[in-house]
Amino acid sequence: MPGRGPANLGISTRVAAISESATISLDRRVKELRAKGENLISFAAGEPDFPTPEVVVEAAMRACRDPRAHHYTAPAGLSELRQAVAMKTRRDSGLDVGPEQVQITNGTKQAVAHAFTLLLDPGDEVLIPAPYWVTFPEAVALAGGRAVPVPTSEANGFRVTVEELERHRSPRTKVLLFVSPSNPTGTVYRREQMEAIGRWAAEQGLWVVCDEIYDHFTYDGAEFNSLPALVPELQPRALCLNGVAKSYSMTGWRVGWLVGPPEVAEAAANLQSHVAGNISNVSQLAALAALEAGLGPVLEMRSAFASRRRAMLQQMERVPGFECPAPDGAFYLFPSVDGVMGRQVAGQTVTSSAQLATILLEEAQIAVVPGEAFGAPGHLRFSYALGDADLEEGMDRLLRLLS
Ligand code: GLU
Repeated sequence: MPGRGPANLGISTRVAAISESATISLDRRVKELRAKGENLISFAAGEPDFPTPEVVVEAAMRACRDPRAHHYTAPAGLSELRQAVAMKTRRDSGLDVGPEQVQITNGTKQAVAHAFTLLLDPGDEVLIPAPYWVTFPEAVALAGGRAVPVPTSEANGFRVTVEELERHRSPRTKVLLFVSPSNPTGTVYRREQMEAIGRWAAEQGLWVVCDEIYDHFTYDGAEFNSLPALVPELQPRALCLNGVAKSYSMTGWRVGWLVGPPEVAEAAANLQSHVAGNISNVSQLAALAALEAGLGPVLEMRSAFASRRRAMLQQMERVPGFECPAPDGAFYLFPSVDGVMGRQVAGQTVTSSAQLATILLEEAQIAVVPGEAFGAPGHLRFSYALGDADLEEGMDRLLRLLS
């Protein structure tokens, strides 16, 4: 019997099968509630609260007034920006790449979508260590592939092991997705673990797609490493994704990139020529100004996040029923809330993290993303990329509700 779902309205099965990104939909809800005058504190969307650095804004304003920036750019992006991205990738990821290996994308999210579109044929499988960011499985499915979540253990800091990866490999496995520092857990892999994973992927002839968007956000001596830099045999089959959104507080400007072997970058430009044409010329010039500004603004933000992380962790310890490990990276905490299950909160018996997130929103006016969105029920994700006063007030509300 025909259903009444969107597929029957003529929407493709592929698109009808996905729902809105949980992080984006929560952020949208927060904005709607705020517009109605609700005093909400949002730990939901992972976006820095800082304004974009002034030097970037100035460059964008100059670009707006320059007719040369009013027109198309090459689909691969402005050559100066591709050059700057190649330099940044050499400096931070330790990969010896040139500008011809860089494709500029509409935020790193488009780099994710394009990476899978570039690599997958129908039925090809992608190993995705769980918990994973909401968009990864959907981007794989939209590209015609099959996402294969690979469980990790909380006791192991949510780090996937070669044994688990091997257990989930099949003759159709084509790609390993690797993210460190990770969203939502904040996990940073240690060098030896990465080497073992990288060598395994190289031996299996897999491609690796590495999301490096949190490369600058590591704490307490943890270090960022790029998988194909540690295991150079991977480089002919490695795509590294990054952007200015998190490191320069430029989420709304939508500039990311994909760096890979030259022939993949060429294919990526062909793809972009039909998808978006190019990324906003003005935004590309703003991103160029950000990269030219160097690491000063990034390090300033990192030090703010480091102190917010410490404050949040201290507060988390006081929340009854929460178990919160101290992750070394990104700007998220991912406490287990198993200890709250079965308890009465605001007159309701809590039976899931999704329900708890709803109660927190409705009863305490704080927004958090439930672990269900990341393939990890029993957890909540708190972003600490919000202002100090909000952070304190939000944690007070949480404590008041749950104590
Ligand atoms: N990546 C951020 C997050 O996980 C931004 C929202 C999104 O694009 O999902 O919250």
